[in-house]
Amino acid sequence: MGRRKKIVQECERLMDKPENIRNIAIAAHVDHGKTTLTDNLLAGAGMISQDTAGQQLAMDTEEDEQERGITIDAANVSMTHEYEGKNHLINLIDTPGHVDFGGDVTRAMRAVDGALVVVDAVEGAMPQTETVLRQALREGVKPTLFINKVDRLISELQEGPQEMQERLLSVIRDVNELIRGMTEEMDDIDDDWTVGVEDGTVGFGSALYKWGVSMPSMQRTGMDFGDIIDLERADKRQELHERTPLSDVVLDMVCEHFPNPLEAQPRRIPRIWRGDADSDIAETMRLVDEDGELVLMVTDIGIDPHAGEIAAGRVFSGTIEKGQELYVSGTAGKNRVQSVGIYMGGEREEVEHVPAGNIAAVTGLKDAIAGSTVSSVEMTPFESIEHISEPVITKS
Ligand code: GDP
Repeated sequence: MGRRKKIVQECERLMDKPENIRNIAIAAHVDHGKTTLTDNLLAGAGMISQDTAGQQLAMDTEEDEQERGITIDAANVSMTHEYEGKNHLINLIDTPGHVDFGGDVTRAMRAVDGALVVVDAVEGAMPQTETVLRQALREGVKPTLFINKVDRLISELQEGPQEMQERLLSVIRDVNELIRGMTEEMDDIDDDWTVGVEDGTVGFGSALYKWGVSMPSMQRTGMDFGDIIDLERADKRQELHERTPLSDVVLDMVCEHFPNPLEAQPRRIPRIWRGDADSDIAETMRLVDEDGELVLMVTDIGIDPHAGEIAAGRVFSGTIEKGQELYVSGTAGKNRVQSVGIYMGGEREEVEHVPAGNIAAVTGLKDAIAGSTVSSVEMTPFESIEHISEPVITKS
């Protein structure tokens, strides 16, 4: 059996174990390294070759996007990662990095429970960092932080450990100030959602040179900032990558600190759905019940040259499978599901069924648009996804 086939089978096995699922987005100000980081994660999970990670831009599926070199469509990918002896299914939604596409970022946030916010160590938090954080928090999505391009602090700016630490701490302070300001009024968030090095909710590193560290990783590998500075200065980046690979550090952080659907949905459902809280459907959504009525929220419509329109979205309740006749909010009649699948490195793989807690790629939902609620019984649709606008700045 091919390696890809094996990964698909493992994803299918894990789809039925919501406690081992993490639905996540990576969000960043343009050029802070989201695409390069995403490629690292795909390579680390065996989805693309390690050699091409960083050059391949695997998530950039649209042709004109590759030509323009910016990410404009939210693509999806599932991968597996072993953490503390258990394999996890990580469903990653790519978010557009360009400010013009704020609406897509918000849509992607509806499908996920955790957002890894990437900030360039040299530039620090930028206007769009604030926007993506606001989009995440408004959807009840928990943030963690990855500070990227730390190689530049060492090699280009020639900073010593003290200077570097101060700079990193100031980035964390700025991000936490934003999080604190935004979560103050949110009474459904009991925990402190600010990020911290000690908690392990902050990682640092270089997506370009594929190394990363966090407090737990430093404890595990025995490497400290001094070792990293020495290796980076000596141009021993391959050794740095091998000793402390970025994908392990980030994917461990994802498994440890992002909520699984069982933890996230009871909190998120009242925020994103205003139907009757005492109804059966509210209950099955809160419980992530794969045997309940089917409820899917469409977050993206893509076009496949062979299969036509593909609706991607989060299954909040029930199990979606071929042949189901489903209601699409705002339209009359029903649509018949032609196929269901999951995304692997931007490509769709058909599977038998996709249960609650996962991201599904569905064909046959001809009336669905991004934002549609698709369900096996008529129901109150999800809250519409509001676009958070911001000043348009163009990429230089
Ligand atoms: P995105 O717009 O957030 O997706 O950013 P990209 O991943 O496309 O990266 C933007 C630019 O920054 C590219 O030229 C990358 O090669 C570069 N870059 C990304 N990560 C790093 C890093 O860790 N260190 C350095 N020095 N450059 C990086």
